[in-house]
Amino acid sequence: MTGRPLRLPVAPESIKGFLEVEEGERLYQLARAASERGPCLEVGSYCGKSTLYLGVACRERNQLLYAVDHHRGSEEHQPGEAYHDGELLDERSGRLDSFRAFRDTLARAELENTVVPIVASSAMAGRHWLHPLALVFIDGGHSREAALNDYRVWAPHVQVGGVLAIHDIFPDPADGGQAPYEIFELALASGLFKALDKTLTLGVLQRIG
Ligand code: SAH
Ligand code: MG
Repeated sequence: MTGRPLRLPVAPESIKGFLEVEEGERLYQLARAASERGPCLEVGSYCGKSTLYLGVACRERNQLLYAVDHHRGSEEHQPGEAYHDGELLDERSGRLDSFRAFRDTLARAELENTVVPIVASSAMAGRHWLHPLALVFIDGGHSREAALNDYRVWAPHVQVGGVLAIHDIFPDPADGGQAPYEIFELALASGLFKALDKTLTLGVLQRIG
């Protein structure tokens, strides 16, 4: 996809996270185009890598990005699990806490006036949500329950013409967990979305109905 050249205020490699540069740049282009119509929202911010790309696009449009994450980590981030990072453990509570790192990212990237952190579960954040969204990026929990919930809660809020992007799409079960792929397929089967080009594991849908 073509678009304006991306200038980031901080190096994405300086932020812990799970997003390839190519995927981030695609998110930037999508948000840059979409945020003309309204605010964007992401589920699953972690330390703010995806937030950086989406946030910079929103800032350029003088738009807001809502960033939903309880900051307690997904299953795979918990102590003893494959993606645990001891630096994110809060010593006082003994629990994972990515919010401090997330806030550091917002400050370093000068996104504090663009990103609205919502430190809550996706279900709680969505319970009374009413505002139409130009772009929703789902990158939260990867259990079937979490992914289905994210889809059911947030997909209805995507404006017609808006974008639903879903990370960690692995059509082949040998490559990774299937829950994100399943909600991608659900969105297509609903007839409300059409698929746009993927970027690595980033699935992209546009709302058509
Ligand atoms: N987008 C990030 C990676 C997100 S990792 C990046 O670019 O690096 C997944 C995140 O989803 C974790 O921070 C975890 O705390 C959050 N998460 C998992 N389940 C959630 C839920 N039900 N509600 C809110 N956040 C959730
Ligand atoms: Mg991901």
